[in-house]
Amino acid sequence: MDFGQGILAAVSKSSNASKELADDGKNILFIDHDSFTIFFNSTKYRLKLSEKAMDTLSQLNEFDVIEFYADDRFRIVYEDCPDGATLFVTNQCNSNCIMCPCSIPSRRQRDTISVNRLCDYLEYMPTDIRHLVITGGEPTLIRKDMFRILQKIRGHFEDFTHYLFLTNGRAFSSQWYLNQFMENAPQNLYFGIPLYGYSAETHDPITQTPGSFAQTVYGLKGLLSYGCNIELRIVVSKLNLAYMDQLASFIGSELRGINRVNIMATEMMGAAARNRELVWVDYAESFKASKQAIQTLMSAGIDVSLYNFPLCKVEPGYWSLCAKSISSYKIRYYDSCQECEVRELCGGVFRSTLALEKMVLTPVKGRGK
Ligand code: SF4
Ligand code: SF4
Repeated sequence: MDFGQGILAAVSKSSNASKELADDGKNILFIDHDSFTIFFNSTKYRLKLSEKAMDTLSQLNEFDVIEFYADDRFRIVYEDCPDGATLFVTNQCNSNCIMCPCSIPSRRQRDTISVNRLCDYLEYMPTDIRHLVITGGEPTLIRKDMFRILQKIRGHFEDFTHYLFLTNGRAFSSQWYLNQFMENAPQNLYFGIPLYGYSAETHDPITQTPGSFAQTVYGLKGLLSYGCNIELRIVVSKLNLAYMDQLASFIGSELRGINRVNIMATEMMGAAARNRELVWVDYAESFKASKQAIQTLMSAGIDVSLYNFPLCKVEPGYWSLCAKSISSYKIRYYDSCQECEVRELCGGVFRSTLALEKMVLTPVKGRGK
């Protein structure tokens, strides 16, 4: 069997699901206890897998999507989970943020996923998923090809599917790109765009990209002129701790129409881990520096969320803003968290951060007294 660039297959564990997938012309991975068979065109191919691989595949649900390569290697393309589906477009980026959770080599490595293949991934995803994140790297780096992906999304998913497009927003400083993008965009689209400072002098040293502040702000204003839904993402680090208030005032006065601001604790991996001395501050300090900014943003009618903050680093009066934002496979707790009364409400801490930083996590106790 020729695996070529990889064979896509949707998971089936029953004859009903197999029939539905076959009627759609899709390849099938049929899982029956410890037997794993791919039905590809008219070929039936029995996989010989390691125990670990069998264990991983057994946990998949019907209609999840796998990409198989030669030597029985595989990658999960779509998995039914609360975090929703993700379309990873490219690992490359035209910024070079000092606390990017991806490493510089990984962002420089050329990704080979073609737009046709990305459309194949979408075709294999169930049409009734609730939430799809389109991300990179910087997804607009594929330029005009993005419009084909947007068209595919529009044609494939149900009207109730919501989308989050994660971008640094710089591409939308081109009026042509903005217009074309909006012409092809699906409904229910949200943009997630990072902003780290209130001026070129405060933002550009963090992206390490001269001109990025001007482009992002211009792009944001263009998207706002179309009435787009936008959440800004502020990663709090040692580099912008001191001017969170000015940044909040800038957003309130210059970027009217922003729906939400997510204030985010730093994930200490990739470039962030490498630049630890420059960026790391304890999450309690990040929260303290953000308090006035939160009030300023809320007074401007903007929703605020705190992402990636464990509850013990945030004053109880602000816990309602804390989102369980860390992907489940990245979350870690200390053993002592078992004694914490708010363990169930807390979103935990990044595994990578706990591996790098000796952080004090103080279990919350005695709240009912
Ligand atoms: S944080 Fe986002 S915008 Fe910045 S370098 Fe990383 S991928 Fe690019
Ligand atoms: S002690 Fe652990 S469970 Fe409790 S708030 Fe902190 S990180 Fe969360």
